[in-house]
Amino acid sequence: MSKRLVIGHFYKKLLNLYGDNGNVEILKYRANSRGFDVELIDIDHDVPTTSETLQKINLLFIGGGPDAGQKQMVDDLVKNKAHFIKEYVENDGVALLVCGSYQLLGHYYLAADGNRLDGVGALDLYTQHFGKKKPRCIGNTVAKLSDKILNDPVFKTLNCLDGYVTGFENHGGRTFLGSNLHPFARIVKGNGNNSVDGNEGVFYKNTIGTYFHGPLLARNFHLADFLICKALGVQSIAPLHNEDVVLESLAKTVHTASLKLK
Ligand code: GLN
Repeated sequence: MSKRLVIGHFYKKLLNLYGDNGNVEILKYRANSRGFDVELIDIDHDVPTTSETLQKINLLFIGGGPDAGQKQMVDDLVKNKAHFIKEYVENDGVALLVCGSYQLLGHYYLAADGNRLDGVGALDLYTQHFGKKKPRCIGNTVAKLSDKILNDPVFKTLNCLDGYVTGFENHGGRTFLGSNLHPFARIVKGNGNNSVDGNEGVFYKNTIGTYFHGPLLARNFHLADFLICKALGVQSIAPLHNEDVVLESLAKTVHTASLKLK
């Protein structure tokens, strides 16, 4: 099987809140288990980036982090990597950004101390932390995936957990999407982007931004398979082991729980 998954993992030391790096391990395990080769490319703040680097990658991942971690990497992100990441996203590159990195893929993040961190500008969104005036968004979360994902022909071939996604959130920033952007999901339990408009994350071209830690893909391995298929350009991949059975019962549990939340 010639397909090779090349995961570009940015800032793994600075942005790894709640084990977000586990998402890369899940992607590697699930791709290898189907016979695909996997190459991991670590791109930290001291690693130069070029178009060629991004052209080698078919799946880009960045995790989340506290304001302090974001401040340590944002200058390098914007000065040395933003142009290439923006080009990658616009060229339908497959990407997963969690929390702090999701925020920095937008226009800016107004941090808790009032400092404005200019972002990559790859996504038409902005984030504002309202300081102590607003409590942090913390807790377990459930959301219903957006129709844009549910109706994707590749996603339809995968076990879709009845369209739900679960996670854990801990963020002070509130994110607001531009009018032309689709959310990743609609929140059922928790806060999502801003506890106001019911949106959770963003889904733009082949890029997913989300506030869901977990790590996300350990709790929602159908999403891992979706990203793998998109990255490799395959229409579907067979379920692993006896996951059909596991997913069926998990879907029933999540569905029952979500009904109780309404
Ligand atoms: N520091 C950002 C905030 O508090 C992002 C937090 C995170 O990545 N979990 O909103």
